[in-house]
This record gives sequence, structure tokens and C-alpha cells, in this order.
Amino acid sequence: MTNKKNLNLHETTSPPKMKIVKEFRDENTKEVGFKFVDYYISEDKTLFQAHLHYDQLYTVRSAELSPYALGLLEGKIMGTKCPKCGDVFFPPRVNCWNLDCKLTKTEWIELPQTGKVHTYTIAGWSGRSSLKRLPFVLAYVILDGVTTAVANEIREINPWNAEFNMLVKVKFVPKEQRVGAITDFYFVPADDWKPSPMNPEKERIKKLCEPVYKWVASLK
Ligand SMILES: [Zn+2]
Repeated sequence: MTNKKNLNLHETTSPPKMKIVKEFRDENTKEVGFKFVDYYISEDKTLFQAHLHYDQLYTVRSAELSPYALGLLEGKIMGTKCPKCGDVFFPPRVNCWNLDCKLTKTEWIELPQTGKVHTYTIAGWSGRSSLKRLPFVLAYVILDGVTTAVANEIREINPWNAEFNMLVKVKFVPKEQRVGAITDFYFVPADDWKPSPMNPEKERIKKLCEPVYKWVASLK
């Protein structure tokens, strides 16, 4: 007997109907550096796709990771959890990384927006799109209850005050500026965090930052 359902290839392989939701291309796009210029969401609101301009135009399809991008647009941090071993992933992984779990499919969960700095560095140079924000702190942060670390900026801090293990929280950019990418949020120090007193190492880093501030101020 033939299983008719399996033969209905058209139904299972037809492309999703994507609808443009937001377009923010400048009319006279010249050099925009690294910039998302639009995004699409499927009619059933399960798939996300965007165009990224980075000297040329790239199509970024989120596919099975769409809940992550759609979550960012709503101000939610969506990660995944392995139902077998319990590991929690952010950035999300579609399949568990533990060999014993044999690529078990993970499940989506909303994560807390607080975490701890695992490690960090201070950037004194960067790509064009963030040159004017130099010097800034780039950190790997482990959100509460998550197994993996995510890289993003820590803002609203003097770079020399960043510390290992400092508590941070997620801060989203305003809703109308979100593009469904990691740049939709950044980290800031937790509410009750206070920088430790200045010491020779912090003084040294502060000195290294000074010419960077000066150079950035000279940029047009
Ligand atoms: Zn697992």
C-alpha cells in the first residue's frame, strides 16, 4: 500500500509565504557598513528572514532558529533546553551538543534577563559600524540557568570598571529599532552593582583608553 501522505511532496516542500514586515533601507544607500535593511515574517508567524547589507546584500534565513529572532523583536530572550540532559543553550542550539544525547532536538524556553560576566575584553578598534562607540567592553555572559555563554557588549560602564563575574542584565534597544539580531540588546551592570575602587591596574587601563576617546572625538 502506498502512503499517499508521503507522496504529497508539494504540500510539504512548498516555500513558506513570507511577508515583508519592516523595511528601513535609506533611499540613497551608499556606504552603510554592517546594517540590517529589512525583515520578513512568514504568514503563520513562525519563520524569520532578514537582509543584511555588508558591502553587498546577504539573505539571512533563521529557519529553525526563528523563535530566537522573533523573541528579540518582542523583547524576549529565547533559548533552548535539551529535554534529555537539561543543558540550556543561549545562543540557542537546535540539537543538543552532548554526545550521549545523540543530537536530541531541544525545546524553546524564555530565559531570565540577568547573568554574570564569564570573561571580557576592552575593544580599542572595531569594524566601521561601531568605531564611534570605542572604546567598549565586549563580554561573554552566562545568563542565569544557562549552560553556555553569549558574546555581546556591556554598555553604561566605564571600560576600566568591568570585572570578571560582575552581575549584568539585558537591556533592549527601543522596539522600533530592533531587527531580530543579537544587536537588539546589550548588557548593562545589574541594578545594585557598584564599581570597585580604582587601583593601579584600572588606572593603567584608563590611560590606555584616553587616546581612543580623543581619536573618536576627532571623527566626523
Ligand atoms: Zn542533552
